[in-house]
Amino acid sequence: MPDISRRAASLGTENAFVVLAEVNALARAGRDIISFCIGQPDFPAPDNVQEAAIRAIKGGKHGYTPSAGIDELREAAAGYMAQMRGGLPIRPQDVVVGAGAKPFIAYAILSTTDYGAGDEVIYPNPGFPIYESQIVAHGAKPVPIHLREDRGFSFDPAELEKLITPRTKLLILNYPHNPTGGLLSRQELETIAGILRKHPQVWVYADEIYSRLAYSGEFFSIAQVPGMYERTLISDGASKTWAMTGWRIGFTSSPALAPVFTRWITNTDSCASQISQWAAVEAIRGPQAAAEAMKQSFLQRRDLIVSLLNEVPGVKCQVPGGAFYVWPNVTEACRRVGAADSEEFRKRLLNEAGVALLADIHFGTRVPGEGQHVRFSYAASRQAIEQGVARMADFIRKNTKKAA
Ligand code: PMP
Repeated sequence: MPDISRRAASLGTENAFVVLAEVNALARAGRDIISFCIGQPDFPAPDNVQEAAIRAIKGGKHGYTPSAGIDELREAAAGYMAQMRGGLPIRPQDVVVGAGAKPFIAYAILSTTDYGAGDEVIYPNPGFPIYESQIVAHGAKPVPIHLREDRGFSFDPAELEKLITPRTKLLILNYPHNPTGGLLSRQELETIAGILRKHPQVWVYADEIYSRLAYSGEFFSIAQVPGMYERTLISDGASKTWAMTGWRIGFTSSPALAPVFTRWITNTDSCASQISQWAAVEAIRGPQAAAEAMKQSFLQRRDLIVSLLNEVPGVKCQVPGGAFYVWPNVTEACRRVGAADSEEFRKRLLNEAGVALLADIHFGTRVPGEGQHVRFSYAASRQAIEQGVARMADFIRKNTKKAA
């Protein structure tokens, strides 16, 4: 058989999907598994959004749209993104609609770095695994910046300062953050912007897909810091805010790169689904009660899971500021049950206790000196949270006794 390219061979994946396959296999074999793996809201899209999609279908909105999206959605998204970000001057022509927020990660890397030229991209570690995979696949050099538990899972700006070189072309930021749920405060973003001022060759990809799920205070974007707007690609979308992950609608704004992103889309998807685009117009413009109710529900579940986890022997869990993830430290729990690391802990928890989690290594290389972590997505029912954490506590207690 002919070879596949080195580029294709180097492609990483989202291990959430790999673990999901393991979980499904166990479930099919009749095992009772409580899963905290999936990073998506456990709600249907709001009724008014569903109805808008049906209207689009019945109204014959079946064809291609312009690659940048329908004017109505670009306009709605521009207004929405601006209003969420202190009135930034985002114009409809600065906004490009894609089939989810994810494709813009690749477009941003492809548009700011050259293959094999030694261009560097700095990205959070742990982080959404697609960042590193796409950086490598597109021939740039991945430069992870480590997140620190004692900083609420942000990074030390001094480390950023050390990592930036004349070859750094792109800095990827993500707040609220997957997998830790961490936020970057306005002050931290201002400090980062202060560093970037000395390095005008660096673009910023601000992955703000969880912008509506920030629980403390008003959301603040690095694009709001003076001087940052022009060089920041703001990525947001419908997936998390309106529970529309499968509808595939993301929107990214950049006055400079919007035409470039549009050309990428003409070369790949042609356009996002027209039906989903009309539904997204309604999601943005229609009543927000469902989105607000989902946010409140996530907040309550965050408080529940954090308090329950902090009662589990050997587990320490910070209170994350956003998204629907917690990232407890399980270093001591691993020691108690005799697991070499978080991945062995995760596997045993799945097989022996029927609780499915992801481990830190699914989100990058383990940060030296930071111990062992696992990720819970708490977009699960209260009952699942209570039972899942209780199973974890039992598992640790039972196995601690055995070891003693
Ligand atoms: N960025 C981050 C940090 C994410 O967690 C996700 C989804 N898990 C995405 C981007 C992709 O979102 P979408 O479904 O809109 O492509």
